[in-house]
Amino acid sequence: GEKRPTDLNALVDEYLKIAYHGLRAKDKNFTCELVTDFDGKLSKVDVVPQEIGRVVLNLFNNALYAVNERAKQTSAPDYKPRVGVRTRRLADKVEVQVSDNGTGIPESIKAKIFQPFFTTKPTGEGTGLGLSLSYDIVTKGHGGTLTVESTEGKGTEFVLSLPTQHTTV
Ligand code: ADP
Ligand code: MG
Repeated sequence: GEKRPTDLNALVDEYLKIAYHGLRAKDKNFTCELVTDFDGKLSKVDVVPQEIGRVVLNLFNNALYAVNERAKQTSAPDYKPRVGVRTRRLADKVEVQVSDNGTGIPESIKAKIFQPFFTTKPTGEGTGLGLSLSYDIVTKGHGGTLTVESTEGKGTEFVLSLPTQHTTV
């Protein structure tokens, strides 16, 4: 794919809905509060839309899976699943922050989640390729960063950061 000026807010919003409706189609009982906070000052960013779309889709699928898992735990009867996304424009980059109040990531596996084929999901539910592919798309393909903060039992936040200033040599 080719890089082109892309409305990231629209792209992110589209994939959030795709992910949510995808999970609801499989699991009719699943509902989740979706909280969006889109920066209206976000100018178009030069990205390969299909690739960045794939990255955010995987982040949303992971977040929704994590809240659904937590919702199924009988130990959390009044638990309210929530997935949030926020975009913001900074001086020389834009950030897309995807947060959830799902299961969180145990300390012991944090170092492995970006490795190809690492998954904690049952066969058929996950390939373990999402984050490793996402990491390559973001870092190698777009010169950005993809970072995570997570607390087991509380939730997770991924931050996708994309540079907006281009240097020429
Ligand atoms: P997959 O989704 O196929 O398992 P990924 O590369 O997308 O592969 O994710 C790897 C692993 O990272 C997941 O199996 C899960 O253990 C962990 N993970 C990723 N995102 C989250 C999240 N939002 N909450 C909890 N765990 C997560
Ligand atoms: Mg995944």
